[in-house]
Amino acid sequence: MKVLVATKNRHKIREITDILKGKAEVCSAFDELGIGDDIPETGKSFEENASLKALYISKMTDDYVIADDSGLEVRALNNRPGIYSARYAGENSTDEANNEKLLIELKGIKDRKAKYVCVIALAKKGEIIKIFRGELEGEIALAPRGKNGFGYDPIFVIENGKTAAEISPEEKNRISHRAKALKLMEEYFVFGSVK
Ligand code: IMP
Repeated sequence: MKVLVATKNRHKIREITDILKGKAEVCSAFDELGIGDDIPETGKSFEENASLKALYISKMTDDYVIADDSGLEVRALNNRPGIYSARYAGENSTDEANNEKLLIELKGIKDRKAKYVCVIALAKKGEIIKIFRGELEGEIALAPRGKNGFGYDPIFVIENGKTAAEISPEEKNRISHRAKALKLMEEYFVFGSVK
């Protein structure tokens, strides 16, 4: 089965491709359909943003479309940056700038609890079929560590004390918020109405 992913984020495409290996042929919707501009994220929740991205693309193709809207929620910051994770330090900000801003905001704060959220919207022919949510609990490190992954991975500490950038891509794809959301989608295909 072919699935178009409604994202320009190469890291997300890489992870989704690896997680769905052997189960779906994953392609970038932007490459496949020759779309230049990114889709504006005007929603107020992960679910709204994932839906609008999936719908936008699925109106242009008969293939299944998935969109991933994801981010980091930090407890001591009232769940910020949340849906603004990609642009936390400003429009077009780098991962490094976002990480640095977060570490400055958390300076001196003991409660470092945080979670990654990934919402996957599945659509076909201009209609949302279903929405899936995966979460991964963790803590914010005092300083960045590790070279793998992307985004907040160098400052996101998982259960074993390592950051998500210190574990291998295979390990991250076994436990991540993205893997959990996609697992629910796979189960839906097997056990749900889509067979
Ligand atoms: P989106 O394109 O609006 O969904 O933004 C997602 C942003 O959330 C990314 O640019 C990262 O900053 C952050 N993010 C989402 N998933 C991950 C992950 O697996 N690791 C690290 N950061 C992530």
